[in-house]
Amino acid sequence: MKKKLVLFCMIAITAFSVTACAEQAKLAREIGKDAKNGAKVQLFAMDTIMDLQAYGENAEESLADAEKEIHRLEKLFSITSPNSEVTKINEGAGKEPIEISEDTKKLLLSAEDINELTDGAFDITIAPVVKAWGFTEEIHHVPNKEELEHLLTLVDRNSLEVDKEKNTAFLKKEGMAVDLGGIAKGYTSDRVTELLKDQGITSAILSLGGNISAIGLRENGEKWRVAVQDPRNKEEYIGVLNVTDQSVITSGGYQRFFEDNGKIYHHIIDPKTGFPAEEGLLSVTIVSTNGTKADGLSTSLFVMGLEKATEIWRTSHDFEVIFVTDQNKVLVTEGIASSFEFEGEKQGYTYDVIER
Ligand code: AMP
Ligand code: MG
Repeated sequence: MKKKLVLFCMIAITAFSVTACAEQAKLAREIGKDAKNGAKVQLFAMDTIMDLQAYGENAEESLADAEKEIHRLEKLFSITSPNSEVTKINEGAGKEPIEISEDTKKLLLSAEDINELTDGAFDITIAPVVKAWGFTEEIHHVPNKEELEHLLTLVDRNSLEVDKEKNTAFLKKEGMAVDLGGIAKGYTSDRVTELLKDQGITSAILSLGGNISAIGLRENGEKWRVAVQDPRNKEEYIGVLNVTDQSVITSGGYQRFFEDNGKIYHHIIDPKTGFPAEEGLLSVTIVSTNGTKADGLSTSLFVMGLEKATEIWRTSHDFEVIFVTDQNKVLVTEGIASSFEFEGEKQGYTYDVIER
């Protein structure tokens, strides 16, 4: 828990001084008025600290509703809570279809789309493998080859059936399970953004454990400034993005990992091998108006590596990417190049723009 807290504190939204780690360390729920007609709330949900700030007449009430919405979604998507819909789907594996809510259905269908787009690199049926590495319960362990070979037979996206008419989900093989950890926060940020906009909020910034969603502009009329962390040194950042009405979501092996026998093992698993993905990337940041897609893609483009990820970007038109490679390169796709201020020279990074 302590490690996660520290990581969170490093993710700075430079428009605000949200890096007050001592305050965050209290982990207390806190809601109150911010400067002038703004409000902010801090809460712990989905295994991470979330900071929401909104401006406008209904800011305080809207954030209270946003907080309720986050807890409602957490109750559906949590893999560790005994009564969540995800747990019920997992317990029903090999037995029976489970009735699901509209939210779970939408999320499972989005996961399916991203699975197809990424040729299987994003796969929520990776759950048994993630669990074997100990990332589900944070009891870390390096699984042996036989164990992984067996578990990989349970990673099978085609054996998850979502029935759109009956609103059910069914894992066809016993032992299968789904893990929405790679996409749930992005979906939640989309729902909260929608809720705040419906309530008339035109200026807000949400940080769901470092997954940032910006609504409108800052009160001074400028874009929101989102710092992108240096994966090699979490106290630094490699640049700042200026965004409006977009999500900025980063995945990287540096965010959750453990060391065993001098080797680092992180939490983003390649479904083809069952091992933490090692494709030459340190982090992938996706910028998109669709937070759900941004979250799923940040995880899976990290798995795919620079070349294949760039191919996907070239054929898509609804997201942009910042790659940080293990060769100390920061590569930014051309659609956001003019919104990105590169600041990684002093840490030894070089900078380039990827053209379409
Ligand atoms: P993120 O922080 O969004 O990159 O998500 C990482 C989380 O997604 C991990 O902690 C796992 O719960 C889950 N995960 C790991 N590998 C994959 C994968 N290849 N596809 C889908 N989810 C994954
Ligand atoms: Mg993700």
